[in-house]
Amino acid sequence: MNELRKYILLYNPISGGGKGKKRVAKVISCFSKYGIKIDTYESKEKGDFLIKAGEFASLYDYIITIGGDGTINEVITGIMGQSKRPVVAVLRGGTANDIAGMLKIPNSIKKAVHLIVNSKPCYTDINKINDRYFAYVAGTGIFTKLTYEISRKTLKNFGYLAYIFEAAKDLFNDFISNKYNFTTVVEYDSGVISGKFMLILILSSRKVGGLNLEKFSKSKLNDGLLDMRLFSSVKFGKIFRLFKFVITSGRKNIPDYHITSSKFKVSVAEDISWNVDGEFANKGTVDIEVIKEAIPFIVSDKSRKKYY
Ligand SMILES: [Mg+2]
Repeated sequence: MNELRKYILLYNPISGGGKGKKRVAKVISCFSKYGIKIDTYESKEKGDFLIKAGEFASLYDYIITIGGDGTINEVITGIMGQSKRPVVAVLRGGTANDIAGMLKIPNSIKKAVHLIVNSKPCYTDINKINDRYFAYVAGTGIFTKLTYEISRKTLKNFGYLAYIFEAAKDLFNDFISNKYNFTTVVEYDSGVISGKFMLILILSSRKVGGLNLEKFSKSKLNDGLLDMRLFSSVKFGKIFRLFKFVITSGRKNIPDYHITSSKFKVSVAEDISWNVDGEFANKGTVDIEVIKEAIPFIVSDKSRKKYY
């Protein structure tokens, strides 16, 4: 029956420094071994998939993407606007691959295609922040601008050093002005929390920026819930608190808050910017909600056991 399904591969030719594009021929040949002819579409510019993925949603049963988290975010957003939503499969191919990592898709194209053709998809929650969709992370505060403030050129020339340099700059500015100390009120399913925070991190799984945060939550990708950690602000020692968070795999520190909810209203000042799935999303007060089991995804057995 597989050959009756219609598949299309959407890829971003510049993702991961062209890594995605190199994998396209391999994907086509792996599908042909199953007697499947797969169509392809190359994105023309940033934002292209926002429209195209929506158009393809009604024409195809499967949308396969190669690209990083930013590319996948565009595809998901395009599909969410449609009533008929195809199965989505994510192949690694960008600089940031948290989403593919969360779904534990094999890096080998051959194995990944085997999984796409033979496994049953898992209906997965998609999240909304004001009028934008996101797959796995939203945040504001210290270091959250790094993923989109570094230019592609700097990233290409300096790689991870660029992140370290920008992080140091962010910390230094904070040291001078204590800017990551923002007054916040969060209304959620079972109450209200208010305080001054340096970082707010909302995750649907336990992975961000390539870090494994096993102690962050017990969340599932289809439970209709998101987890939010509010990091209380301190004048000095922010970096130590964050370091502790990372080395303890996301465990909650005493002065911080952790809440699990299907909806949040986060009231902050107008100049506070939000990063979702690694991209700038919006500023100021936001409404966040989970749309339960919105899109069927291809996931590995390991991810199915852990996250569903
Ligand atoms: Mg969840």
